Amino acid sequence: MKRDGRPSLHRVTDLGPTLVVSEVFGPTWQGEGASLGRRAGFVRLGRCNLACTWCDTPYTWRWADHDPAVELSTQSVADVIQQLEAMAVGLVVVTGGEPMVQQRSLVPLLEGIGSRGWQVEIETAGTFAPLDEVTRLVDRWNVSPKLAGSGNALEARYRPDALRALEATGAAAFKFVVTDPGELDEVDRIVRECGLIDVWVMPEGTDAATVVRRGRELADAVLGRGWNLTTRLHVLLWGDERGR
Ligand code: SF4
Repeated sequence: MKRDGRPSLHRVTDLGPTLVVSEVFGPTWQGEGASLGRRAGFVRLGRCNLACTWCDTPYTWRWADHDPAVELSTQSVADVIQQLEAMAVGLVVVTGGEPMVQQRSLVPLLEGIGSRGWQVEIETAGTFAPLDEVTRLVDRWNVSPKLAGSGNALEARYRPDALRALEATGAAAFKFVVTDPGELDEVDRIVRECGLIDVWVMPEGTDAATVVRRGRELADAVLGRGWNLTTRLHVLLWGDERGR
């Protein structure tokens, strides 16, 4: 056990099913996308297979300037569920990092959430196709495909087969993080190539002024293309504060 009471990353025996966790926090609100404003508990998992230049959670994966021994802990599913129970929420958001890096380990968590009657959303960059045993336990996929401006190589960030598989679940919303209206043509290409239906655009930004400014810059163009627009409620309320 760490001094702050979190289980140690290295103590993985006798815990039952486990996950590599960055933080469990809430109650708060889902700040983005189709469920914006819904009261929710968050499970932020560690690690990511991408490396976005504007990543707002680098403490889940960027070990050049963060320490995994400090930032991550191996937690049993039972411990995670216990923390969620204390929040008295009807919605759990599993986010990251990239939660799908631990896809097989998600099943016990998702079963525990479903058995309590809570809904669950998984937030992913859409580079992993979902397994059937995961899909059947997820109420909504919040898929955020990364654009060229994220700084990731094309073959790492764009997996059309995975995006099509997520669309085929019938439960996916595709939320593109955009810094500039000039990126909307790239969004359009992905939407067409992969046959994406429920399309959202979200302004990138980790302070309220940037989110509002970029939202205004994007609004008319997004409306004209027939897509949805989301802000970042938690950023408007609390800026870049962690655990909100
Ligand atoms: S996919 Fe998400 S967690 Fe991973 S680097 Fe990009 S923004 Fe950060």
